[in-house]
Amino acid sequence: MTSSDRLAPADDLDVEALRARYRAERDKRLRTDADRQYHELSGDFARYAEEDPYVEPGFTRAPLTDFVEVAVIGGGFSGMLAAARLKEKGVTDLRIIEAGGDFGGTWYWNRYPGAQCDIESYCYLPLLEELGYLPKEKYSYVTEIYEHCQRIGKHYGLYDLTLFQTRVSELAWDDTERCWIIRTNRGDAMRARFVVSALGTASRAKLPGIPGIDSFEGHSFHTSRWDYGYTGGDTTGNLWKLEDKTVAIIGTGATAIQCIPALGRHAKKLYVFQRTPSSVDTRSNKPTDPEWAKTLQPGWQRARRHNFADIIEGRPFDDDLVNDNWTSIFREVQSFVVRNAKTIGPEAAMAHAELADFRKMNAIRQRVDETVADKETAEKLKPWYRQFCKRPTFNDEYLPTFNRPNVKLVDVSESKGVERITPKGLVANGREYEVDCIVYASGFEITTSFKRRVGFDIKGRGGQKLHDYWADGYKTLHGFASHGFPNWFYIGVSQNGLSVNMTAMFDDQAQHIAYIIAEAKARGVSEVEPTPEAQDGWVSTIKKLSVVNRAYLESCTPGYYNNEGDVSGGQAGQTYAPGINAFNALLADWRGEGALRGLSLRP
Ligand code: NDP
Repeated sequence: MTSSDRLAPADDLDVEALRARYRAERDKRLRTDADRQYHELSGDFARYAEEDPYVEPGFTRAPLTDFVEVAVIGGGFSGMLAAARLKEKGVTDLRIIEAGGDFGGTWYWNRYPGAQCDIESYCYLPLLEELGYLPKEKYSYVTEIYEHCQRIGKHYGLYDLTLFQTRVSELAWDDTERCWIIRTNRGDAMRARFVVSALGTASRAKLPGIPGIDSFEGHSFHTSRWDYGYTGGDTTGNLWKLEDKTVAIIGTGATAIQCIPALGRHAKKLYVFQRTPSSVDTRSNKPTDPEWAKTLQPGWQRARRHNFADIIEGRPFDDDLVNDNWTSIFREVQSFVVRNAKTIGPEAAMAHAELADFRKMNAIRQRVDETVADKETAEKLKPWYRQFCKRPTFNDEYLPTFNRPNVKLVDVSESKGVERITPKGLVANGREYEVDCIVYASGFEITTSFKRRVGFDIKGRGGQKLHDYWADGYKTLHGFASHGFPNWFYIGVSQNGLSVNMTAMFDDQAQHIAYIIAEAKARGVSEVEPTPEAQDGWVSTIKKLSVVNRAYLESCTPGYYNNEGDVSGGQAGQTYAPGINAFNALLADWRGEGALRGLSLRP
């Protein structure tokens, strides 16, 4: 039974009591240092960003100073899609520069046990039709996703044109040679006419700024650099080396939800340090039905992604093709507001959405009661906030893990986080917990400043730094390009249509960028960049359409969605509010005109 099957009747809701509880739980966690509470990786912890546990040490190669037509920075899904789509357009003088030892990006680095994509695989894994591949299950685990990255690399001949184990340290436009100079940690100073930055949205780990974090004398690692040498086992679990170890995990977000079941199964003792519980709905994974596979017609993946986005963005749809707990949340909680705001008025629509949200979250909390035997633990595991204050999670093994005698939940909400780390362990609620190992499931730089997320300078014409230029908000045409940064394109989340199904979003962006670069080449253009007028126009379109619900965000428990409670900062309201399908239609029309409108083209 899914949570959506057991919605409580409206008259069961004590709206005022629920609102008061949500407020109290938020206030308890609100910190004045907001997102400054997190540490950038430095000192000994820099290894979480720089070390690669998946390659043999000692790799060297001679520095490069050569020239390519297009350099793609990043070999995750977005970079691979950019290269693949460019090749399809006949642009073959390409190079991918990737920090890891293989393709995959997030799925290369995040190989913690239980890692799985929580978006349906038939929508998430790109290029399924192009490669004639169908995922094994409705929700793919990391091994299958990583293999799919390699499949794309082989199919599109990307291995031969990729520099692995190479981290970019600076991008600078050279106005004399009219190309980009790309410096790296390998001593390279390569040149490229065009650069596509495909840097990923969660690629830099962050750490909680817990006092004493440097003093711990035991073992520790971040989930994005899982240390199987220490734990034993692999992505499927079997962490046999933990059988005599006491382990602490800090964090209970989307990552922790997936790896805690394996830690619980294998550690002698596991302490889960929780500041805010996640909303955990059912997963109900299942093998791909071969009979269904036979019914798929050409174009099915694009149609499915489109249908998924229609539901999520509250547009009319005939059938819910994905039909899972993502789509059910949006159907129940969000779609009504979007569809009916015009007829019943925004206030009535919002009130309705709040009731739907309370019902949904009541069902999520009820699931905790039904699953976790110890009443005190169950109470602590219940999320008291609205569904979209934090990323919803889906897992069938997480909650039952707390019925194991070796697993203990440590609530650190009163102290707004773990109080202190000592040489021997962690202090919470006045007690020291001695542990052999600390696992940091503390997330990534997702909404912090562009410089902090990217980690290197991008210098455009006249040495202008992109992070200065974007310091008070993105300035782009369609989210891809900025005036003063010729021949530079960005794939990611900026002033474009946003989707929870990131790879679909990346693919549409990749196709658009490939079109512009191919057209520029065909028209003999050496430099392309937005005109200031077109860029200003797009920035004001984004602002005009912005529908940031400030009151909603302010009422949320802190997290990266609301800039840790400081809604005056962060990136809310910078994406294209009508959504991904509307954005793609707009770009398709723009391409259809064939005029490259808003771009200045220099021969
Ligand atoms: P999150 O940022 O979501 O979670 C970090 C966790 O660390 C939170 O539980 C946070 O608590 C906790 N924390 C931070 N500081 C402290 C502290 N001082 N003391 C105690 N606890 C602390 O990171 P994740 O890695 O879980 O997820 C990041 C994102 O990655 C997801 O939101 C999602 O976008 C993506 N992801 C996607 C998956 C997929 O299936 N597609 C799977 C996994 C991740 P609090 O909540 O109180 O801040």
